[in-house]
Amino acid sequence: MNAFLPFTRPSLDEETIQGVAEVLRSGWITSGPKVKEFEAALSDYFGGRPVRTLNSATAALEVALQLCGIGLGDEVITTPLSWVATANSVLHVGAKPVFVDVDPVTRNIDLEQIEQAVTPRTKAIIPVDLAGLPVDRDRLYALAEKHRLRVIEDAAQSMGASWRGKKIGSFGDLVAISFHANKNMTTGEGGCLVLNDEAQIPLFEKLRLQGVVRFPDGGMDVDVAGGKFNLTDIAARIGLGQLPQIDAFNARRRELARHYFARFDRELGCGLPLENFSDSNWHMFQILLPLDRLKITRGEFIEQMRQRDIGVGVHYPAMHLFSLYRGMGYREGDFPQAERIGRETVTLPLFPAMQTNDIKRVCDTISEILSHSH
Ligand SMILES: *Cc1c(COP(=O)(O)O)cnc(C)c1O
Repeated sequence: MNAFLPFTRPSLDEETIQGVAEVLRSGWITSGPKVKEFEAALSDYFGGRPVRTLNSATAALEVALQLCGIGLGDEVITTPLSWVATANSVLHVGAKPVFVDVDPVTRNIDLEQIEQAVTPRTKAIIPVDLAGLPVDRDRLYALAEKHRLRVIEDAAQSMGASWRGKKIGSFGDLVAISFHANKNMTTGEGGCLVLNDEAQIPLFEKLRLQGVVRFPDGGMDVDVAGGKFNLTDIAARIGLGQLPQIDAFNARRRELARHYFARFDRELGCGLPLENFSDSNWHMFQILLPLDRLKITRGEFIEQMRQRDIGVGVHYPAMHLFSLYRGMGYREGDFPQAERIGRETVTLPLFPAMQTNDIKRVCDTISEILSHSH
């Protein structure tokens, strides 16, 4: 019997676990010295740019929007094929998410269609690097410059990915990254925002924690209603154990992705991801099921995989079809590519501790299930 293979699992070493125990024993468990140390290490990783941590990437997106002065009456262009946090953060600041369909090859926002969505109210673009495959940063920033738009990169999934040899986060406008348990490196829950210059830090720090400004005499003032978005030292210590390993984790993910391409039976008619081994961090390996030609639904496929002890995920249904966004006027048919991908997509197991024979097992199981379902 095989052990259950989840679609992802974090790699936490004993040294990190010991380090967390030390933080717990130290008497200081919330934001303190470990957060500062983690922020400095992240800044080094991103080429010296200022970096601040938060308790999620969702919070990073929300604070980034506030830093850009985006709020009521403003529009922000983004993709409907992402985790719903992307567009929810726009709603949180009172602005309107304006969706643009995705490119069927990259499954990321279709850069060709962005210009048609720009209006006098548009203030920013939030690109998402789905599965860690970066959106074309050259074209993206050229568009942003032409229309004088801010860019808030939802790089939640693209820690350690790069664009033309440059690390995502080491260049560009504001960049939000997630350290959720399922991401390529984790702090349990957590995230960070890469800022443009030191001058943004005081406002950022106010928005991160209740709007509080502290004075040397122990007094304080509040002039904005900030959030409660600070990271704990417990989480930061996990991040300090993960960060030195991120490039090795991603190298292993790339190697495993190559095995998927080598093993996957292309006769089954599934859509495979773009074979990119230079920029992507292979956060996920997603196939598209040929549902038109199958006798089973995606739900039945997932169930049959589970019965064979393989966990698969769905990332993501097109979010404009969620009740909340339908309520804002979005309809089926608005973004046909995102809708089709959202219906057909399945995330296969991929994480650094997986073995190459796990890939064989996943591919063989898919072949077995699908060859009986045509
Ligand atoms: C995970 C994720 C987020 C949210 O990150 P949290 O740290 O869980 O808030 C946002 N956008 C995308 C694309 C994600 O994958």
